[in-house]
Amino acid sequence: MGGVPAADELDGFRAEVRGFLTSALPRALAARAKAGHTLSRDELMFWHRVLHERGWVAPGWPRDYGGAGWTILQRHIFDEESARAGAPSVIPMALTIVGPLLIAHGTDEQRARYLPRILDGSEIWCQGWSEPEAGSDLASLRCHAERVGDEYVINGTKIWTTFAQWADRCMLLARTASGDRRQFGITILLVDMRRPGVSVRPLPSLDGMHVLNQVYFDDVRVPVSDRVGLEDQGWGLLKSTVGHERILNADVGRARAMLDRLIRIVQAGPGAQPGLRIRIARAAIRFRALETLVLRALDSPDPANASGASLIKVRGTELQQELSWLMSEALGLYGLPLLPDVMQDGWQDETPIGPEDAATVTPFYLFWRKASISAGTSEIMRNLIAQQVLGR
Ligand SMILES: Cc1cc2nc3c(=O)[nH]c(=O)nc-3n(C[C@H](O)[C@H](O)[C@H](O)COP(=O)(O)OP(=O)(O)OC[C@H]3O[C@@H](n4cnc5c(N)ncnc54)[C@H](O)[C@@H]3O)c2cc1C
Repeated sequence: MGGVPAADELDGFRAEVRGFLTSALPRALAARAKAGHTLSRDELMFWHRVLHERGWVAPGWPRDYGGAGWTILQRHIFDEESARAGAPSVIPMALTIVGPLLIAHGTDEQRARYLPRILDGSEIWCQGWSEPEAGSDLASLRCHAERVGDEYVINGTKIWTTFAQWADRCMLLARTASGDRRQFGITILLVDMRRPGVSVRPLPSLDGMHVLNQVYFDDVRVPVSDRVGLEDQGWGLLKSTVGHERILNADVGRARAMLDRLIRIVQAGPGAQPGLRIRIARAAIRFRALETLVLRALDSPDPANASGASLIKVRGTELQQELSWLMSEALGLYGLPLLPDVMQDGWQDETPIGPEDAATVTPFYLFWRKASISAGTSEIMRNLIAQQVLGR
């Protein structure tokens, strides 16, 4: 769809998305996602394939490359409707970062080789950027790649690598040169995670789940044909591909799903104390403000402009954390036990005490502490806001 769709076109689009979700999303899966369970690889990849068959798994990619070719507003509507219906979020790295990077800067051979496998879900990717000494200050990364003939030899480590335990490939940022400007000398390599010398160490998180990992590269060989763009020039390519993701990261759809869940918990329970009701009402108002902010940003000529996007990211993640905390409070004592196993697919060992939502609420709360760290910490976002809006 080219250009900005008219309002009635968008209404039609929303109805189409709703119809699809009603027919394609299994109720049991939606119920697990809505109740905050951690979904298994099979569940996530099932939904990936359903979206792929409908042609909707890569909303932001151009149609020529197998994407839906949606505008950012259509993507927003899709996310909103998906969250409302309880649809799982697909594993994002390949679809939101690797694909757009290859479409914009990859070779024809790289696109032909990797894009179809990203779309059909036959290859899972992880994002190897952060290191123990390079997180917010990513340009200080040290994982090293040395060119030897027509290969690079990689040595070093990456940390907090989401889903590395499942990944077939890694989009790696490696240092190929050092100089005065630390952004220079960073090269993007596409690494086969099954290569000799790659090892993955699980890092269980606060909620007891295993999503994060540390990955070690010990003389790992990557063909030069798996380099994206020029050697040493990877940093410049990142900026143009990460663009809109910060706004979508505020995830209004997810915040709406959390708000719905909170209201469900309160309605099913003994009734919230007046003080809690006021805080829920305030959160609901903040949600409406965030929604307006996001829609305004999406409608602007430059949605990815740093200050607006950073502001939305801070507001969105703070709201998600507040909502997850309010769920715990609304459940009172029933919300206190930490039962990580209950989050897993197939868990039915014992019936949790209290209302249906009680068992998942504490791991869910702990999980969402990550929102203000991943994809740029709140402090870094505030620095960007200060620089852009206040002029430092
Ligand atoms: C759940 C989760 C998933 C992740 N997944 C991935 C992944 O798949 N791939 C990947 O590469 N990375 C991933 N990350 C890493 C993430 O990008 C980093 O955690 C993030 O960039 C922060 O870096 P850090 O953890 O090293 O913290 P640091 O940068 O060391 O920051 C520590 C603290 O200091 C503050 N701080 C740092 N610099 C400044 C400054 N200049 N001004 C003010 N305050 C500052 C920070 O805000 C923070 O509070 C993930 C992180 C999380 C939590």
